[in-house]
Amino acid sequence: MLGLGIESTAHTFSCAVIEKSGKSGKILSDVRKIYKPADGEGIHPREASRHHIENSPQVLSECLNEADVKITDLDLISYAGGPGLGPCLRVGAVVARSLASFYKIPIYPVNHAIGHIELGKLLTGAKNPLVLLVSGGHTMLLAFLNKQWRVFGETLDITLGQLLDQFGRSLGFASPCGRNIEELASSSSNYVQLPYSVKGNDVSFSGLLSATKTVGKQNKADACYSLQETAFAMIAEAVERALSFTQKNELMVVGGVAANKRLSEMLQDVCKRHNSKFFVVPLKYAGDCGSQICWTGLLESQVKKGVSIDKTFVTQSWRLDSVKVEY
Ligand code: AMP
Ligand code: MG
Repeated sequence: MLGLGIESTAHTFSCAVIEKSGKSGKILSDVRKIYKPADGEGIHPREASRHHIENSPQVLSECLNEADVKITDLDLISYAGGPGLGPCLRVGAVVARSLASFYKIPIYPVNHAIGHIELGKLLTGAKNPLVLLVSGGHTMLLAFLNKQWRVFGETLDITLGQLLDQFGRSLGFASPCGRNIEELASSSSNYVQLPYSVKGNDVSFSGLLSATKTVGKQNKADACYSLQETAFAMIAEAVERALSFTQKNELMVVGGVAANKRLSEMLQDVCKRHNSKFFVVPLKYAGDCGSQICWTGLLESQVKKGVSIDKTFVTQSWRLDSVKVEY
């Protein structure tokens, strides 16, 4: 089976082709163009969608060329149906819908968050993990039960990615800022006390953001270091409790923030204490990409025939724990 996946939920427009045979999948191409807001600014949804519109023809043709396939070779097309920014989501859906209706190819809307998880499982080999999804759009702890992902903790306000990006922007970095913060944090070991807020097994980051901005005015490196230590310790506490509760013997970290080495280090310690295996999605596939959408579409095709064109909606707030996973 050959699938084309289209991702356009936020800053990234990406197309990927994957060849699936049995349970294995081979990524033949994964091409991305990322919208970059001006330094210190966040994503402007209309500007991001314009970026996606302008870049979609080139990304699509590069993706097909690199995979050495023609559109008519494709068995299915999947697109990120949500959650995400409406204007951005619509670009991916329009491209997918146009190709699917013109070439008469089955089409599948895919939940973006499930895309992160399924590609993570394919690439790490994790079988039945507790999942930590940490990205620009999500901060969630999840375990799979009775055909649905169940939430064992999430953010009550902003996500971990937003925390890092909003703080980074206050220092004047260009978004996304996670990597800059990680670099600067490694030059300090001076911990400044910051608010630590775990409620039940949920986390809250907005107070931490305000307090870190104040520290950042005195010393940027100390602020980055202390921010990482505090936020990641909150996450590690929630992970530890969820591991203990679910008795999972695997932890898998996915999403853009999974690229952070310090986060992995802390979570590896937690896993050691619980005799759990630690998996982290490979760096190249941590952030948003077409492969996540493509692989999930291919999995969906095992149990569904696709949707009719008039059902190819996008849903800005499509929660992953509302999706029935039948494959
Ligand atoms: P995604 O929404 O999955 O594409 O993830 C994007 C998020 O990942 C942004 O908030 C980035 O700041 C964050 N990110 C990327 N690299 C790193 C890193 N090395 N450390 C922490 N966060 C990162
Ligand atoms: Mg994402």
